[in-house]
Amino acid sequence: MNTLSRTKAPDVGDVRAVCEQEARMADEIEAAQTESAFLLALRLKTRPQYRGQSAVCCRECGDVLPDARRRALPGVQCCVACTASHEQTR
Ligand SMILES: [Zn+2]
Repeated sequence: MNTLSRTKAPDVGDVRAVCEQEARMADEIEAAQTESAFLLALRLKTRPQYRGQSAVCCRECGDVLPDARRRALPGVQCCVACTASHEQTR
């Protein structure tokens, strides 16, 4: 008897169950990707928009804003720490 004749052929029901499980996994992955894209788009849309004259000092804590921050974010009003604090409470 050779090794091929000892191998049991897969049951059609087993193959169908595996295919259905893989289809469910693909649906779950697609749903997760869609949700991830939605959350990214929402975050980009709701991020702070900086315009106008940058403040010299943070309006929250009064620390001097570094020139690099003022140039990079025109209209910025708060330091990094205060901005991060605001974003955590949103
Ligand atoms: Zn501050």
